Amino acid sequence: MTYKDTLDPSDWSDFRSQAHRMLDDIMDFTEHIRERPVWQPIPQCIRDIFRQPLPRKPTDLASIHKTFMQDILPFSVGNAHPGFMGWVHGGGTPVGMLAEMLAAGLNSNLGGRDQIPVEVERQVIQWMRELFSFPDTASGLFVTGTSIANLIAILVARTEAIGPDVRRHGIAATNKRLIAYTSAGAHGCIAQAMDLSGIGKDGLRIIPMNDRYQIDISALEQAITNDKNASLTPFLIVGSAGTVDVGAIDNLAAIADIAQRERLRFHIDGAYGALAMLAPDIAPRLSGIERADSIAFDFHKWGQVPYDAGFILVRDGTLHKNTFASPVAYLKREARGMAAGSPWPCDFGPDLSRGFRALKTWFTFQAYGAEKLGKMIAGTCELAQYMKQRIEREPMLELLAPVELNIVCFRYRGEYTDRLNSDIVIAVQESGIAAPSTTTINGHLAIRAAIVNHRTTSDDIDALIEATLSYGNTISRNIQLKSI
Ligand SMILES: *Cc1c(COP(=O)(O)O)cnc(C)c1O
Repeated sequence: MTYKDTLDPSDWSDFRSQAHRMLDDIMDFTEHIRERPVWQPIPQCIRDIFRQPLPRKPTDLASIHKTFMQDILPFSVGNAHPGFMGWVHGGGTPVGMLAEMLAAGLNSNLGGRDQIPVEVERQVIQWMRELFSFPDTASGLFVTGTSIANLIAILVARTEAIGPDVRRHGIAATNKRLIAYTSAGAHGCIAQAMDLSGIGKDGLRIIPMNDRYQIDISALEQAITNDKNASLTPFLIVGSAGTVDVGAIDNLAAIADIAQRERLRFHIDGAYGALAMLAPDIAPRLSGIERADSIAFDFHKWGQVPYDAGFILVRDGTLHKNTFASPVAYLKREARGMAAGSPWPCDFGPDLSRGFRALKTWFTFQAYGAEKLGKMIAGTCELAQYMKQRIEREPMLELLAPVELNIVCFRYRGEYTDRLNSDIVIAVQESGIAAPSTTTINGHLAIRAAIVNHRTTSDDIDALIEATLSYGNTISRNIQLKSI
């Protein structure tokens, strides 16, 4: 007998054929992705398809899938495409996709309980301890992304600075004014995490950068001294391993020395850069990362794991647990049965129900191996050097920042350069040829290419350069005509 209101298919064989068609379609998409535009502007009639009232009656799965293929798939941002170099987005992999499908089928809740999916997450945590030379007592947790991982790190640092009572009394009850330090190149989510933690953005000192876009070490020391003299409480330095604008790596060993001397916590935002530890040629540049108290990073950027898969690694696992764990009756632990296996992932962060992000990450490391992933990461950095050389050979282009890792910031020369270059970027994006984004370097608008996607080749770099030159030429002529 079947229960009439179940949501399972009434005919599994029909459903299975439809499922195989869907799998084929999405694999065709990846196999032939180069034949597509990176991105295309969205017509209003497509948007309107997604402004409908709540559906009351069922729609046939094949027809829903057709809408997906026609009206959703072609209008995504395009980060799976090799020509996508905007912001810092991972490309995803077919292996990761399959693992995500299996995880959804299993529908595990990784909040806790005694189950192998939790052991898979623990396995990845162990691999990360190994990669970053952290002790066995270090803890880790999958989260949505580095924004949340950084917030967790700041909450852990707060607990250490004020003591676990802060969880009951709140920040307001302390007479300590907590102060954190990071560079002007740090990601905006650090300031946001200060805000969300209740410490407030005014508690974050933005330290200037040196000419390599790293935190200025003597300015950092001076700021700490000033705050101590003013009877404030410095508690945390946030270093960057791969800044979002230019890919700079702070002098992590120097920061570690200061943190040790001043008894401050040392957290690293390594959102995309930390996984460069997988590349033997690049890893030495991250030296000092193994001395951090915590590291935040994303598997969904350079690790190519499908979205989302952020991660936080904390050296002192007990402190991490004491920042989040709460004894509640319905989450009682046992030595045996399904409620065994404590501590659970929910003891290390604010999420109780959690998806099986670990599975697609575990599959990715298993299927490709750490060496291959490291080679792929190094390969994107080599492409950035290739792009740098191409820009240096083009008289109409100029480089705006050193190319440390995989990010290249440049511009087209001409009058009204900021407007010109932002128009070039929009034109290139709308052409579907490539997808760079923009940022501001020393007050100038820069075209920014972040080469994160494992599918990108030198042909894609050439296409971006050619498109920039060609649109730059046309747009600068139009600007001149208009300004006469
Ligand atoms: C992407 C990025 C972040 C934010 O990470 P999310 O995964 O998007 O939350 C933080 N810092 C740096 C340096 C980044 O590149």
